[in-house]
Amino acid sequence: MKMSEQQLDIIRSQIKELKSKDCFYSQKLKDVDPDSLRTQEDFEKLPFTWKGDLRNAYPLGLQAVPDEEIVRIHSSSGTTGTPVIIPYTKRDVEKKKKMFKRCYEIAGLTPLDRVQITPGYGLWTAGIGFQAGAELLGAMVIPMGPGNTDKQLQMMQDLRSTVLCATSSYALLLAEEIAKRGIGDKIFLKKGIIGSERWGQKMRKRIAAELGVSLYDIYGLTEVYGPGIGISCDYECGMHYWDDYVYFEIINPKTGELVPDGEIGELVITTLKKEGAPLIRYRTHDLTRFMVGDCKCGCKYPRIDTILGRTDDMVKVKGVNIFPSQIDDMLSGISGASSEYQFMIDHMYGRDICTLFVESEANVNKELLTEEIQDRFKIKIGISITVKPVNIGDLPRSEKKSTRIFDNRY
Ligand code: ZN
Repeated sequence: MKMSEQQLDIIRSQIKELKSKDCFYSQKLKDVDPDSLRTQEDFEKLPFTWKGDLRNAYPLGLQAVPDEEIVRIHSSSGTTGTPVIIPYTKRDVEKKKKMFKRCYEIAGLTPLDRVQITPGYGLWTAGIGFQAGAELLGAMVIPMGPGNTDKQLQMMQDLRSTVLCATSSYALLLAEEIAKRGIGDKIFLKKGIIGSERWGQKMRKRIAAELGVSLYDIYGLTEVYGPGIGISCDYECGMHYWDDYVYFEIINPKTGELVPDGEIGELVITTLKKEGAPLIRYRTHDLTRFMVGDCKCGCKYPRIDTILGRTDDMVKVKGVNIFPSQIDDMLSGISGASSEYQFMIDHMYGRDICTLFVESEANVNKELLTEEIQDRFKIKIGISITVKPVNIGDLPRSEKKSTRIFDNRY
């Protein structure tokens, strides 16, 4: 994706300003002369910022403005180590709100909508972001927060909520509960705005069908404003993102080099207007790709694909990068194969051997299914594998969806 002159100017003056202060980036970029940043290629030589850098800066090492300008902090959950704290200025809070409003507008919300918000409040960025954007739009907010399904469903009926904001797993849980209780005719939802997790087409269809809603994927991460920096539109062909606030790059996670537009890689984000804690070339570990060309909706903001996985899930076999959503996708087009599989990589006799165990329906011809999957795998993903169909229920059910690829090579 081409960096505009304007984006380059903003980044240059941002770096110049950061270097004039005693802060995280004046240290990190101490060898960089902002005046030498003349082209996109110059920018691409700047070092990446890693989650570890942010953790090391705990608690307020990322703060890039004086204390009197900070009005709020948000924080990642910190379940896997030291949390990351992101300080916000008044203007940062305003910008976050405006971006979120833009998301709602892309999803077609109006001031007549009633928005039930189920993501968490508090240190978490999500709940308050969903709320502030909806209020700026003029819709009515029902600030439920997470959990308490009975109360959620009661409010949803009594207040006739028209929009549900949720994670995909909670949206599915609510959808199943509504079906189980037979209260579908008392639900008035029209749209679902679903954040943050990777979810397959099968799950998406189920939620949409059970709730009778159109679904929109919203993107964001705690380190960069939280959800609201991008959203899918009615055409469901990736997510538009706000390139006046954030600059996106997609790189090969192994080499750090940019991949050609349209190819899958790791999303790297540079903030353009953030004051409290700006980020330059931040490695998100989210896998996606640029969607090339104009969107049919007419919106001019560029697009990335919905998140295809995390770089940690990716394995490299025979020079080809493989990740779970590719296999999900390939299997979803094959009748007789279920969505459950395990992909094993072993190193034997000096080479890598891949075996895909797939649950298949009882009445299916296993030989034909094996051939079909082998062919599709070769065409879609690019390597030859061994396929072993197994019966439905034979593979262990795991709470964690990501444990489907087993790399036994090391
Ligand atoms: Zn669009």
